[in-house]
Amino acid sequence: MKSVTIIGAGESGVGAAILAKKMGLEVFVSDSGTIAGHYKNELIEFDIPFEEGGHDFEKVLVTEVVVKSPGVPEHAAVLRMLKEKGRKVISEIEFGSLFFSGLTIAITGSNGKTTTSGLLYHILKTAGLNVALGGNYGKSYARILAEETPEIMVLEISSFQLDDIETFRPQISILLNITPDHLDRYEYKMENYVNSKFRITMNQRAEDHFIYNGDDPEILRKMSGFVSPVHRIPVTAEKYIHGIPSKDGSGVFELSIKGRHNMFNAACTVEASRLVGLTESQIAKGLSTFVNLPHRLESCGTIRGVEYINDSKATNVDSVYYALDAMTKPVVWIAGGTDKGNDYSVLVPLVREKVKALICLTDYSQKLIDAFSPVLSDIRVTKDVSEAVRLGLEMSVAGDVVLLSPACASFDLFKNYIDRGDKFRKSVTELAEKMISVG
Ligand code: ADP
Repeated sequence: MKSVTIIGAGESGVGAAILAKKMGLEVFVSDSGTIAGHYKNELIEFDIPFEEGGHDFEKVLVTEVVVKSPGVPEHAAVLRMLKEKGRKVISEIEFGSLFFSGLTIAITGSNGKTTTSGLLYHILKTAGLNVALGGNYGKSYARILAEETPEIMVLEISSFQLDDIETFRPQISILLNITPDHLDRYEYKMENYVNSKFRITMNQRAEDHFIYNGDDPEILRKMSGFVSPVHRIPVTAEKYIHGIPSKDGSGVFELSIKGRHNMFNAACTVEASRLVGLTESQIAKGLSTFVNLPHRLESCGTIRGVEYINDSKATNVDSVYYALDAMTKPVVWIAGGTDKGNDYSVLVPLVREKVKALICLTDYSQKLIDAFSPVLSDIRVTKDVSEAVRLGLEMSVAGDVVLLSPACASFDLFKNYIDRGDKFRKSVTELAEKMISVG
């Protein structure tokens, strides 16, 4: 390979461009939209030619290999054209992997990727290993390789990133779960989405390991016809539900993160850490000291005995299921946003058991109302997050929880889930201050 064209100039694309430049390749970056200022500055700084606001087909055709950012949809005209002209189109993950010979641990799934990747990284780092964390999380894979020299790479991988791999081969792969998400990118066929997730194993060999959710119906269905030499490690509820036992006889591991879903995530990281060769006490240290990122069941204050929890990252039904499952107090639930074809029926039994009232924080409340009015008599609607926080207090009593766990994307009222969670937290702080001043 002498030269590459990179389609898309976000975190992955710019990371790939910098890596390509450092590896002595000729590189050209092309983006159909506007390139964000800081990425543009980096391209200029590294003397990498680029275009934005459209693709000049003549220019992008010059190279043989094309690296596609995961955000660029498969049906984009430029990709179709490049493929028709016989250009090799690979993902940024594939491109990065061509330049890394250390140990790769790749984590995918519909929910829990960030938590599990962050936790595993923390355990390995705390044990003193030379490890980096990236992919769908923080820095892109290629950017890490351009900037650091890790011996172990923990990669969070989305299904989009797996779509254009060819030789990418993690020695350890983790598949957390598969529930309907992003089906719009997979012709609304679950099978396509499942196949995409399983690509994480496609180049694994007999000496490699595949850690997977042994209770997940979609995964089990696919495993019944799974042909691969890879060593399989199913993680089932009995391995973690009563605590994850340490092998040194010291009882169960202490976890800093709560909820059944996090016990599962932690169990996967324990399996991976053992494969890497960590001792039980090294694993214990990491598990007990991990602090998760915000917006994932993040406690953000208590007002008059009512705890507010920000789970803005719960953008699909399954993650709300686990959030509600983790609740031990009566819940006033704030939900709603841009619906991605949700089927709320799986939540109904849990809502009946744990939720006392619902606040729809969205432009499109009807679907939520239709789904939950048979089991909830108190449903309110608002488009204003501070109003939702205030209503939460009005509808609860001391000892309750107000839980923002939307089940939806945030684009109707917010920039993204971070913006939604940050505004929620800010509104809670403001309401708390107001309550103190009122007395
Ligand atoms: P991802 O990176 O896959 O989006 P996160 O770790 O950011 O996953 O968590 C997203 C949401 O899913 C959060 O609301 C979190 O509480 C929930 N979650 C985390 N782990 C799991 C799991 N194993 N199963 C279901 N939901 C989970």
